[in-house]
Amino acid sequence: MAEKTSFEIARETLKQLTARKLPPTPLNYQKIYSEIAQLPMEPPFPADRLLDIAKALPTKTPGQQKQRGLLESAVNQLNWDGVKTALMAYGGFSPAAPEPGKPAGTLVDAPKVSAAPIDIAPMQPQVTAPALTADFFGQIARMIEFAMPALGQDDERFLTQAQTLLKSLRDPQADAVTVKQSLGQFSHRLSFAAEDQAEIKTVLLKLLHLVVDNISQLSLDDSWLKGQVDAVKAACVPPLTLRRLDDVEQRLKDVIFKQTEAKSRAVQAQEEMRQMLATFIERLAAMSQSTSGFHEQLEASAKLIEQAKTIADIAPVLKEIVGATRTMARDSQTARDELVGMRKKAETTEAEIFKLHQELDRVSAQARHDPLTGALNRQGLDEAVTREVAKVKRQDTPLCMALLDIDNFKKLNDTLGHATGDAALAHLASVTREVMRPQDTLARYGGEEFVILLPDTPLDKGVEAMTRLQRELTKRFFLAGTEKVLITFSAGVAQLGHGETGPDAIKRADQAMYLAKRAGKNRVLGAG
Ligand code: GH3
Ligand code: MG
Ligand code: MG
Repeated sequence: MAEKTSFEIARETLKQLTARKLPPTPLNYQKIYSEIAQLPMEPPFPADRLLDIAKALPTKTPGQQKQRGLLESAVNQLNWDGVKTALMAYGGFSPAAPEPGKPAGTLVDAPKVSAAPIDIAPMQPQVTAPALTADFFGQIARMIEFAMPALGQDDERFLTQAQTLLKSLRDPQADAVTVKQSLGQFSHRLSFAAEDQAEIKTVLLKLLHLVVDNISQLSLDDSWLKGQVDAVKAACVPPLTLRRLDDVEQRLKDVIFKQTEAKSRAVQAQEEMRQMLATFIERLAAMSQSTSGFHEQLEASAKLIEQAKTIADIAPVLKEIVGATRTMARDSQTARDELVGMRKKAETTEAEIFKLHQELDRVSAQARHDPLTGALNRQGLDEAVTREVAKVKRQDTPLCMALLDIDNFKKLNDTLGHATGDAALAHLASVTREVMRPQDTLARYGGEEFVILLPDTPLDKGVEAMTRLQRELTKRFFLAGTEKVLITFSAGVAQLGHGETGPDAIKRADQAMYLAKRAGKNRVLGAG
């Protein structure tokens, strides 16, 4: 019998559907169609649906991308086994049981589905990474890349080892056992590299201390420099933070600047003194020469006078004595004139040095730190604010600015004296530095007003921090001689708003501080 065409089968199928009184559903149609065409009855392959599913799968990692590709390829080839394997590998599972005639799956990423024929190719004996493992390896690779800059660039073998490891971690075909081995070797070497870096840091710190000690010994006579050097010393002890190092750098710059100035001033003065001394010695030598010549002449003249028989014999001798005396007097006058000149020059130099001193004091005032409290001055504050505001923009973290003003400070000055007032300001600054976090910045804003920058701090935490400082100040009271003096302050705290400038935020903190004063002082208010 000639084979039926599909058209004939379709017509027969429709007839049968009517004859058997079956509802014309796609499934009934397919059943009868298969029966007539003598085909095995198989449900249709839902390629479109499966492709929809494949499209919806995330492809964030190279492993996921690969598995989705394999799934799509299996769907396009209407291969159920391929679909199953790709989906299982996508989820990080191995096929549950070995199919007859096919080897058991282990940790697979079903890489062979795409290879024609559609059947899954036999698994290779090696263990390849499934999607989860690929993802995991990817994360390790990223972690290593992030950590590498902290480990220095000087060990070439270590760098090569890292590159090789990164390559195999990112290789989808990489053998997990080999990766594990090289990871082990890498971490062994990593432990040495990390130790080296820690050691380098300690040695550098020691060196820094030596340098700072040396500077402080060179500048014993300058109290401003000594204060700065002590602050540098205090700032460069562990735990080091970038902010503290920044502070050390700024202070060292100030110290070096002032030392350079002081040195050139000293060199200049030394040179002038040397010149004056040289002239003086020259003069002295000339004088003693002319004096000894004079003495010799007098002695010779005395002998001639002794031997003289007549006045006429004495006359030329006297003439000589008068001449020698005149020369001697002239020489003395010249020497005196020169000495007077030198004294005048010395006075001028002294005046110049005094002027230089004043200039240096002015320059120190322009440095970034306030000499009395060691806090940043306005210039230092401006720089710190710029830096912090830029960081907020970069990292999108909250930044608080607090402004505090000591309560009734005028009264303290009036009753205990200005010097005690100064000591109280230094006390407040020192307690603030102890209580606040190392990353917070303290600056003297004006007479008895301070600004504190609190990075990574939202408004409520900023108010909390300032209230804590207030509490600590009552515990660590200020001693004026033997008298305990309680210092209180009023403060306003503002969180930097989006698009707001640093000075504007400080202005808001100032307004809140003013409200705190109005509300009775000794309190902290957040700016709205
Ligand atoms: P309030 O509680 O309202 O802030 O009153 P107050 O007395 O603290 O404020 P006022 O602004 O009236 O006075 C501040 C005083 O701070 C006046 C000034 O003499 C003093 N002052 C400013 N700078 C210094 C300084 O460097 N050392 C000393 N000892 N006093 C200073
Ligand atoms: Mg004030
Ligand atoms: Mg005040």
